[in-house]
Amino acid sequence: MSRVVTPKQVHSDIVLVVPEEAPTGPTARMGSGDALVSNHPRLLAGIRTADCIPILLVDARSRLFGAIHAGWRGTTQQIARKAVEAMMRHFGTHPDDIWAAIGPGIGACCFEVGPEVAVQFESIFPEAGELNRRMKLDLGEANRRQLVSAGVPDGQIEVSGLCTVCLEEEFHSYRRDREKAGRMLSVIGPSEGWADAGKARAEARAFHSHNGV
Ligand SMILES: [Zn+2]
Repeated sequence: MSRVVTPKQVHSDIVLVVPEEAPTGPTARMGSGDALVSNHPRLLAGIRTADCIPILLVDARSRLFGAIHAGWRGTTQQIARKAVEAMMRHFGTHPDDIWAAIGPGIGACCFEVGPEVAVQFESIFPEAGELNRRMKLDLGEANRRQLVSAGVPDGQIEVSGLCTVCLEEEFHSYRRDREKAGRMLSVIGPSEGWADAGKARAEARAFHSHNGV
């Protein structure tokens, strides 16, 4: 765990670039934000979720990676698109080279939202027509579409499709368990051998952890 860098998540559209000397460890936080992008040769980028959508990005050719926390607020603020753009701006990546994993989060099965939230997704789900009504919101799909529109090839995006609320044995869920809910930590970064091996190789790991990790 000592190689994991995490932000203080605030449901924003703030993308942080991991600096050379980033604080690591179970309780260290880099700063307020909801996405990390990095080309650090040793440190891993981590995001905590319990219903929000974790998204991991890698450009193995240029040895870049990112981790994104996308709830409905972050999604409407285009946090995934902004993370891709930050990788382009800071590290010169081409979105064509990015591979993405959209992890488990609350599914459309369990996420009914009111008109005030639904209406903010009109441009993402144009086929739904006017969204001034209650709707079942598919956050994973919304983020998949956002990544595609940011230039990430559709065929390079994997969507888990697993619902954290439904799958009680597998995942923590804030909506289901409220204050006693734990968090999942989704992590991406260079494997131990990245710096030495001389070839681009990235490894994504997602594992369960409890509060305070
Ligand atoms: Zn569900």
